[in-house]
Amino acid sequence: MTEKIALYPGSFDPMTNGHLDIVRRCALVFDRIEVAVAHNPSKEPLFTPEERAQIIRDSTTDIENLTVSHFDGLTVRYARKINARYLIRGLRAISDFESEIQMAMLNRELDPGIETFFVVPDARYSYISSSMVKQLYIAGGPIADLLPPPALKMVEERLERRIAPEQ
Ligand code: ADP
Repeated sequence: MTEKIALYPGSFDPMTNGHLDIVRRCALVFDRIEVAVAHNPSKEPLFTPEERAQIIRDSTTDIENLTVSHFDGLTVRYARKINARYLIRGLRAISDFESEIQMAMLNRELDPGIETFFVVPDARYSYISSSMVKQLYIAGGPIADLLPPPALKMVEERLERRIAPEQ
């Protein structure tokens, strides 16, 4: 039997506990999951693709069937390159639905042999996004429960708090 490889693409700027929740669920279902950081300069990321990939590696050392990389260009083309037939995307709320379904349809048009799977995170993580965490940190809010420790460390090193946290 051929190995069932799933590709989980995204910005991961940085990985949050929501992303991690999706990864853990998928690691139980697929033979291997590859988390791949998409180069997307138009989003003006805080971390380089290499830094984002390293944060993911450091946050997932206990997951044996997981690999991490970064890529440029079409997601379906990258999926073919690594022999992945499945694409994973997380669905947090209705607000994710429209753009995600559009992307899934487009990817099916580009390559009908690749199937998109949507995975729903634990409700605790359904409101978290990387951009929200960064804004919260800058504003002096608590983020320690929202990020895996390696991501938290990198955010603390890279971002300046404009408002001191309340004691
Ligand atoms: P992109 O720019 O590709 O949307 P993100 O890093 O924002 O990159 O998200 C990558 C994927 O992870 C998307 O499918 C997104 O819906 C999903 N995702 C982001 N945050 C969460 C979360 N808190 N819970 C579940 N899925 C999430």
